[in-house]
Amino acid sequence: MDVTEKLMAEIEARRDDLTALCQDLIRIPTLNPPGDNYREICDFLARRLEKSGFACEFVRAHGAKGDSDKYPRWNLVARREGTRSGDCVHFNSHTDVVEVGRGWTKDPFGGEVEDGKVYGRGACDMKGGLAASIVAAEAFIAVCPEYAGAIEISGTADEESGGFGGVAYLAEQGFFDPKRVQHVIIPEPLNKDRICLGHRGVWWAEIETYGEIAHGSMPFLGDCAVRHMGAVMTEMEDTLFPALAMKRTDMPVVPEGAKQSTLNINSIHGGENEQAADYTGLPSPCVPDSCRMVIDRRFLIEEDIDEVQAEIHAILQAVKERRATFTYDVRELQRVLPSMTEKSAPVVQTVARAISDVMGRDAQYVVSPGTYDQKHIDRIGRLQNCIAYGPGILDLAHKPDEYVGIDDMVDSAKVMGRSLVELLT
Ligand SMILES: [Zn+2]
Repeated sequence: MDVTEKLMAEIEARRDDLTALCQDLIRIPTLNPPGDNYREICDFLARRLEKSGFACEFVRAHGAKGDSDKYPRWNLVARREGTRSGDCVHFNSHTDVVEVGRGWTKDPFGGEVEDGKVYGRGACDMKGGLAASIVAAEAFIAVCPEYAGAIEISGTADEESGGFGGVAYLAEQGFFDPKRVQHVIIPEPLNKDRICLGHRGVWWAEIETYGEIAHGSMPFLGDCAVRHMGAVMTEMEDTLFPALAMKRTDMPVVPEGAKQSTLNINSIHGGENEQAADYTGLPSPCVPDSCRMVIDRRFLIEEDIDEVQAEIHAILQAVKERRATFTYDVRELQRVLPSMTEKSAPVVQTVARAISDVMGRDAQYVVSPGTYDQKHIDRIGRLQNCIAYGPGILDLAHKPDEYVGIDDMVDSAKVMGRSLVELLT
């Protein structure tokens, strides 16, 4: 048996261990927000990884968005050196999960196994991927103890809320410096035969239109900010949405609908604040003097962030020309530039070969419609040899009765293990 065959047998033999690890991770409810049990899951991971010779470093993202003494943002970075110099392969998984929501028939934190699937919040996004990467690394170390370079495994906070207390913080601290780490695999649930090269860009902004408050019985004495916003929406419907639908990308974005530029109106609020649910009175009659809209614009690698902003300003200027009293502001809430690793990058080539060896079919290349922690590794860490690859079906993420298939975890662990053989031996 050659090394790869031995490793495949070793991973297969650890199927039950991999399942149990995934269950154990699901049973630590790391809900975000608010950011529960980050320390507990880091302690759990460290106990496990220290047994295989990893040196574990706990990093709290002091002062990052979301970090507080009540909800500290703990991250774990585990590193195991090889016996000679070489590249470092880093597996990065976020440990947080989103809220449970309604509609579950299984215990969301029970880690129940049924019909070859492990159920629970975070099963597919992404505790199944984290478990697969750990078992892949442990099996690789058992079979190839004399490897070159280093293996790192990180469990990081807050991906679901932007990653500022997680990967962004670690990147700022130099953990993703290309001198320290050369290949990054993020085991997000992109399906076991797909390599995700990157993601589209994001521009979140708040548009506010202004008016003048007056008695609701004499609206002509005021100026209605909500009607101004209505004019903005009409302009968007007439000109902006059709223009966005025409912009198509060459990025292999899935699903198909996300191959174009998109804009979501996340929220609109004008006039009086909503009262508490137990308020039994009526609203007071006022002409609203402010209306705010939050927009979520997702853009393509072919687009420039300045153009994206200019489009919104052009819409607002067009409205202004028709409405004498129209005034507005635009405030940026967040920007993330698109990120896409080249297909020729070493980690892409290696994982693609491993997928075709394990699965017997060619790897597919995709780009994610939404962002994930690759943005921080690319922009802050300046490391461009990064992909997302992991088990699980993307469509199940954040849904009720989320699950990950045990076969999928084992297969993707084999792909990760083969990739380690190629990169580190
Ligand atoms: Zn995720």
